[in-house]
Amino acid sequence: MALRLDTDIQYLKGVGPKLGTLFSRNGIKTVGDLLLNFPRAYEDRRAARNIASLKPDDIVSVKACIVGVSSYSMGRSSRKIYDVLVRDASGQIRCKYFRVPYKGYFERFKAGDEIRVVGKVTNYRGRIEFHHPDIRDIDPEEDLQDALIPVYVEIEGLSSAKTAKLVSSVFTQVKEWPQEKLPLAIVKKNKFISREQALYSLHHPEVENAASYNEMKSAAHSRIIYEEFFWLELYLASKKSGLKNEKGFVFRSRLSEDSEDILLSRLQASLPFQLTGAQLRAFAEVKKDLESGKPMNRLVQGDVGSGKTLVSFMSALKAFEAGFQSCLMAPTEILAEQHFRNAEKVLAPIGLKLGLLTGKTKAKERKEIAEKLLASEIHFLIGTHALIEDWVQFQNLGLVIIDEQHRFGVAQRGILKNKGTSPHFLIMTATPIPRTLAMTVYGDLDVSLIDEMPVGRTPIQTRVTNEAKRPQALQFMTEQVAKGRQAYVVYPLVEESEKIDLKNATEEYEKLRTQFPKIRFGLLHGKMKPAEKDAVMDDFRQHKIDVLVSTTVIEVGVDVPNATLMMIEHAERFGLSQLHQLRGRVGRGEHKSFCVMIMGYAVSEETRTRVEFMEKTNDGFKVAEFDLEIRGPGEFMGSRQSGLAGFKMANLVRDFDLLKLARDDAFEILRTDPKLQKSDHKLLREELLKSYGPQALAGIG
Ligand code: ADP
Ligand code: MG
Repeated sequence: MALRLDTDIQYLKGVGPKLGTLFSRNGIKTVGDLLLNFPRAYEDRRAARNIASLKPDDIVSVKACIVGVSSYSMGRSSRKIYDVLVRDASGQIRCKYFRVPYKGYFERFKAGDEIRVVGKVTNYRGRIEFHHPDIRDIDPEEDLQDALIPVYVEIEGLSSAKTAKLVSSVFTQVKEWPQEKLPLAIVKKNKFISREQALYSLHHPEVENAASYNEMKSAAHSRIIYEEFFWLELYLASKKSGLKNEKGFVFRSRLSEDSEDILLSRLQASLPFQLTGAQLRAFAEVKKDLESGKPMNRLVQGDVGSGKTLVSFMSALKAFEAGFQSCLMAPTEILAEQHFRNAEKVLAPIGLKLGLLTGKTKAKERKEIAEKLLASEIHFLIGTHALIEDWVQFQNLGLVIIDEQHRFGVAQRGILKNKGTSPHFLIMTATPIPRTLAMTVYGDLDVSLIDEMPVGRTPIQTRVTNEAKRPQALQFMTEQVAKGRQAYVVYPLVEESEKIDLKNATEEYEKLRTQFPKIRFGLLHGKMKPAEKDAVMDDFRQHKIDVLVSTTVIEVGVDVPNATLMMIEHAERFGLSQLHQLRGRVGRGEHKSFCVMIMGYAVSEETRTRVEFMEKTNDGFKVAEFDLEIRGPGEFMGSRQSGLAGFKMANLVRDFDLLKLARDDAFEILRTDPKLQKSDHKLLREELLKSYGPQALAGIG
């Protein structure tokens, strides 16, 4: 039997049923999958170093001898750190593992063993260490002094050297390689090597290009990374061009012949402030979509406090003026109610009838809402995800607004869409999405940016500090309260198992009350009943509460302009984007605002640097880019649904240029050949179908 890339891995010579099972358990099912198990690093034998000469961030290979293996618990949690101490003639260094690579990994090391450590040198509190390096037996066969050797992740004890041998044998045994899937024009234009060459080169690196391999910038890397982006972008491009073919409502004013937006002018005149330039620009883009006859799919991105809500209200007003209903879905009850209250102030006077639907809306009210929706007696329905329930049916839904999109899945967007015939979609997000992600996750949406804050806001002053300075922080809180301002004190959610480690909101609330009897405290946490939460929020809004002690339930959207201090406990527990969201709860009024982030004692250097970044900027986009760089895209979006889970090699930040190239190429292909009918594009259709299913082709026919 001729070996092919889709042959079951167990038939590769040297594998067999036992190893085959092990491979398949680890996601390597075919011979081709083995080739996609890329080296995680390249060991440059020429760069072999002695321990004394190591510097942070070096990727090195060190020949050493094991001194001992130990393990100890991390803090008070039950997780263990494994610590392998090694030495050479020049010195010693610790290799630390925060999770066990596989069962039995550490048992095989004995003091005195000669090994080779390959990995990146890390600076931990001023000391150099390896974190999760590869520790390899010294293979007597491979004493090549000047080679570049691929290092594979050890799969359940299968050594890197053994994997390398198996991989190499694939190239000699497979005679027939699949046809090139990228259009030849693309390969040529971008001067790419072939996929086959790229795969070969990744597993058989050229020593003269060692640096480019370790930086993942070799010609082989570029080709593979580009391809990963290309398929995703082609999919997004096809989806987007499919949307363009759909018919959408044309919002034309019922009130005036020449379709002047009378009500909009009335709304603007009623506001106590001027719209910012950015708000006007974003709305102009929205308006154009709403009048275009194609369904709008627009993401409005703007930092916290930039005034997105108003832009969405103007859109709802435009729908009303054209005789359509709208709905707005918010992620929490508190937010839905806040939007509702705002709409009552801003939109009701102009004649819009509003509805509010949340989890706590009673059966009787629901019935009433259902009737009114069908009779068009509610023009604008605001609510939580209760909006997607089956019974919610509109007479003529023309516009769907979603606030804080990252909390909703794409599926929920679909359900709402089915409540109307191709309604317009406006999605607002306060999570500034780095442009890299916007190009992937939201690739099928148009984006409007609100990149300007309303005038008169003074920037929030941020201070990162630690437990030791807590008394001063509390003192500062009392001063703010004495000035008539309000404050938030936020605690991270506490997992049951970690309770002892962390101050918990409830306990601290009691302590603070005793410590500062003159201050009126309120408590808000996720376990409270909705009615209780509301009562507390209302009291805070009406300044019957000075300091709101809370878990992260206040994270999104809440707007209390008199609040000027945000104190965040255990700031190290939060992602930067989340810290930025929290910080955005203050600085919404005329008074100078502050954010104090308090870190626990036992935080690593890395964490400290990460959190301290918050002192440097108030710009949500900068925060997001930084966060993306250090924590990966999962923080912004479930990585599965975003289509990012499929990347084996590509990295959105590092490979941004390739992403952009792939995106331009993919969109250009669909622009010139919208149905992918050219002979050079036939394979593209097949590949889309294979990776994304029939829906990928639905739009392009
Ligand atoms: P976000 O973009 O975070 O959703 P909001 O829509 O909640 O921001 O707006 C924050 C606050 O700014 C609200 O109190 C809102 O009334 C106010 N606001 C909105 N637009 C302007 C403007 N152009 N000038 C002054 N204040 C504004
Ligand atoms: Mg908002």
